[in-house]
Amino acid sequence: MKVPLLDLKAQYATIRDEVMAAVDAVLESQQCIGGPKITELERKVAALSDCAFAVGVSSGTDALLCSLMALNIGAGDEVITTPFTFFATAGCIARAGARPVFVDIDLRTFNIDPERIRAAITPRTKAIMPVHLFGQICDMDPILAIAAEYGLSVIEDAAQSISATYKGRKAGSMGTCGCFSFFPSKNLGAAGDGGMIVTNDASLYERMVLLRSHGARPKYYHAVIGGNFRLDPIQAAILLVKLPHLDAWSEGRRRNAAYYNERFADSPVQTPYALAECVSIYNQYSIRVSQRDALAEHMKQQAVQTEIYYPLPLHRQQCFAYLGYREGSLPQAEAAAREVLALPCYPELTRQLQSYVADTVLNGVAMLQPV
Ligand SMILES: *Cc1c(COP(=O)(O)O)cnc(C)c1O
Repeated sequence: MKVPLLDLKAQYATIRDEVMAAVDAVLESQQCIGGPKITELERKVAALSDCAFAVGVSSGTDALLCSLMALNIGAGDEVITTPFTFFATAGCIARAGARPVFVDIDLRTFNIDPERIRAAITPRTKAIMPVHLFGQICDMDPILAIAAEYGLSVIEDAAQSISATYKGRKAGSMGTCGCFSFFPSKNLGAAGDGGMIVTNDASLYERMVLLRSHGARPKYYHAVIGGNFRLDPIQAAILLVKLPHLDAWSEGRRRNAAYYNERFADSPVQTPYALAECVSIYNQYSIRVSQRDALAEHMKQQAVQTEIYYPLPLHRQQCFAYLGYREGSLPQAEAAAREVLALPCYPELTRQLQSYVADTVLNGVAMLQPV
């Protein structure tokens, strides 16, 4: 049996006609920049996220960059974030001209450890950028409390967690703003790149709209330097077809996660730790095992596709050597990078295939660690 990590063709087969019609309608209209599809998607994603405003942008990466720019974060500033995330999180902080300051994670949740944030705050700290990794929101209350105490902005990197909740509050709605990605492998994925920022701050929203189109207002008059961060209406039209399915798809992932949890109970496989106050959307189902590389090789031999998110924490990346971190600086993130393995968890995964994945993991673990 062959099992992919994600099967977007299976998903596409269920919505093909609607997607084709939606794309055709945009092309017929030839409204290929801005327009009603963008505003409709913004309205719906804002509502979904319990936020007043949403700004469609070109990617999750640009959502982060545009947020930093709108908050005037740049040279001389520091932004606290996690080293265990996709590169874009810290890449954007550096591109904005600021310094990423990495705080170690809680190895159980893989998310930034709120307890360690305070020690990283300096007079230069301007913001905290928590990442809701793999679909589960960070423990936000202590993060928000520290931010309020020191007057810091909070930019939620919610690229992997659209519609997830924490104590009933939606991803992206708790901080100063929240950033989503519509990269195809995210729970709500476009047919290319796309992203969105949500916020409840009206003046921040205005600045983001301005920055998205070169800071021009009116056209050809630039009070601020922005960029081209626009979302493509064809992508917006496709996302509008997919949006009504998001809850069912996330529910399917939760069902699959529950099945794995059951199969891996009483085994050496560490299943993802779910905070009681969170509903995760399981963008990834990442287990932890001590002989991870050997297990990954075993899975490959048995034709099960897995992935390591992420093999090298950001503080150990060559491009961030100037920040001065060393091996051992952030041991929890380093341990996670050595031990995680993401398994297929996509909603279209059949029980038969999933059972094969679970068997293969358990056989592999038994073979590698005989008891
Ligand atoms: C995907 C992702 C991004 C970047 O989103 P893009 O749409 O690919 O630019 C940023 N942060 C995290 C945590 C992500 O998973």
